Amino acid sequence: MTPRAFTVAIDGPAAAGKGTIARAVAGHFGFAHLDTGLLYRAVGALTLDGADPIEAARALDPRALEDGRLRTAEVAQAASRVAVIPEVRAALLDFQRSFARRPGGAVLDGRDICTVIYPGAEAQLFVTASAEVRAERRWKELRDKGDDRTLAEVLADVRARDARDSEREAAPLRPADGAMLLDTSKMSIDEAVAAAIAHVAAKGGAPRA
Ligand code: C5P
Repeated sequence: MTPRAFTVAIDGPAAAGKGTIARAVAGHFGFAHLDTGLLYRAVGALTLDGADPIEAARALDPRALEDGRLRTAEVAQAASRVAVIPEVRAALLDFQRSFARRPGGAVLDGRDICTVIYPGAEAQLFVTASAEVRAERRWKELRDKGDDRTLAEVLADVRARDARDSEREAAPLRPADGAMLLDTSKMSIDEAVAAAIAHVAAKGGAPRA
């Protein structure tokens, strides 16, 4: 028997904790996980090397997602710039949709998973936190990696990306009607993960046998 498809769609702004939550949910249920931000980051990184964003998105090789350079702040800004281009988003759609329906369950996290990529997802979450809390979390992460950017600089980056992601015409960041709103501002990561797992289970998600 083919294992059934079950999709968990997680959206939210930068540094709200959705990546950590998505990985933990995928691990708990034995589902595959796709961090869709990496697709935009890979296209953004190629444009920093001089590529045309639309051509880069159309020809994107999934192996490009493993490049360690994709996690830098410079690539994050480049990603949010290419993400406003409708043709870039269209080129990345089929890959994300087929991932969402893969047998055995899938967790996708991003900005438009519930609203555009797979509105039929059985479980939908919108993970958020205040810009200050998100900036502080990101700043601590960067500091631990030896990056010496100030908290004010990181907060300015978070706000610039929030504005670009929410105000763009193509697939702007917004909570879907049926999504569970998870504000992690005052939660520990364990509490946020537990709330997300409980929501997925309540929607019928079950660990893979
Ligand atoms: O999630 P992450 O910070 O890696 O995403 C980088 C950028 O890619 C975001 O700021 C956003 O502009 C874009 N993105 C998007 N749609 C997604 C995932 C990411 O527009 N589903």
